[in-house]
Amino acid sequence: MHENHPSHILALRCTVCGREYAPGAVRYVCPDHGAPDGGPYGGPAVGSGDGADGVLDVVYDYDAIRAAFSRESLAGCREASQWRYRPLLPVLPETPVPPLPVGWTPLVEAPRLAVLGGAGAVYVKDESRQPTGSLKDRASALAVMKAREAGATVITTASTGNAAAALAGMCAAAAMDCVIFVPESAPQAKIAQLLAYGARVFLVQGTYDAAFSLCLEASREYGWYNRNTGYNPYMSEGKKTAAYEICEQLGWNAPDAVFVGVGDGCIIGGLHKGFRDLLALGWIARMPRLYGVQAEGSDYLYRAWKSGADPLTFPPIAAHTVADSIAAGLPRDRIKAMNAVRGTGGAFVRVADAAILAGIPELARHSGVFAEPAGAASWAGLRAAREQGLVGPEDRVVVLATGSGLKDVGAVLTACADVKISPVTVAPTPAAVRRAADGLFGAVPPRAASR
Ligand SMILES: *Cc1c(COP(=O)(O)O)cnc(C)c1O
Ligand SMILES: [Zn+2]
Repeated sequence: MHENHPSHILALRCTVCGREYAPGAVRYVCPDHGAPDGGPYGGPAVGSGDGADGVLDVVYDYDAIRAAFSRESLAGCREASQWRYRPLLPVLPETPVPPLPVGWTPLVEAPRLAVLGGAGAVYVKDESRQPTGSLKDRASALAVMKAREAGATVITTASTGNAAAALAGMCAAAAMDCVIFVPESAPQAKIAQLLAYGARVFLVQGTYDAAFSLCLEASREYGWYNRNTGYNPYMSEGKKTAAYEICEQLGWNAPDAVFVGVGDGCIIGGLHKGFRDLLALGWIARMPRLYGVQAEGSDYLYRAWKSGADPLTFPPIAAHTVADSIAAGLPRDRIKAMNAVRGTGGAFVRVADAAILAGIPELARHSGVFAEPAGAASWAGLRAAREQGLVGPEDRVVVLATGSGLKDVGAVLTACADVKISPVTVAPTPAAVRRAADGLFGAVPPRAASR
């Protein structure tokens, strides 16, 4: 590898053994735990056994960053995207940003959710507004830039759907090629995005975990730049910008607790990194508690956490959940995810698919934010955590709505039917509407009552 590296990065540190590497020395994972740069994997079969262990964490030179970047300089910054934090991101100054703006999504205060959830305040981070409809855009934009820096012309990823859609969209904007591995069971809307954006798409007849291993093999064989979550060290660096935005949007008064749906664990690990960066810079005064919400049928991290196990060697499970974006039998960023929860006094919370689905219309009607199942899982998790006494009535809580409800309309319709929310079918006559309107708002029509 001969590419240049950003001068504000000190090292890449292995999350398993702590060894540090010069940024130019390793492209993906720690050579002692995985296959670093594409060659066939011949190392010890710890954890996944496919060469994807030893995820690296980017270590920054905070003194250098602090000297040139401040909250005050940000206050005057007109860049309404995640690139307002560029001095804290692992890219060279001259690398072009994909021309599809990412980030700076709204943080919506939702007082009715605060009442319902029994918290002091609830804010919804609305990632449905991202250009391809999920938080994954934050990481995929960075992947395109790192691929450019590495001189690659083709990028590949495995995905449950959203990371792929994000990569496909960013590649379309930046005129790069990408190869996608997704389970054939991925929701139609996500596959439609891939096709429309011009990605080369492999629909894998298997799980996300199978797609992940296939993608690793293919990138080793063909030399494609690999964006895989929990393998490429820079993906949590993109996702961490959500933490920066939350704090800036709250006037640098960090929330007490943050809830997010967890599959691979990259988002929660990224949030942890973002808050750690801000603490190191002295921009926030304390670390929020991070809560990772898992579906009952995809609860690897919950189980490992509950039993005090080492997430490196805890065995994979078979994952089944309606929330496809958080279905992961072997969470690939499980070390960073576990550190995020254990290191902040948070918890993993488990919710049933029925609670996740019920959370979709609840979140939508009380905040206006329309989320896919994995996006509403965070809200369902807050409710469960409140019942367990993990959240108090004074807590200021952020719920991440990680992906748009338009990503999985089938699941949303099921969710509504399950809780008896249904449309009224009428004949095309005013009389039919009149008959049906009587019961719409209970006994007294609200407009008649206010006259
Ligand atoms: C990817 C994703 C998640 C989970 O993120 P991980 O990093 O896999 O834990 C949650 N919600 C949505 C909508 C996602 O696309
Ligand atoms: Zn290592």
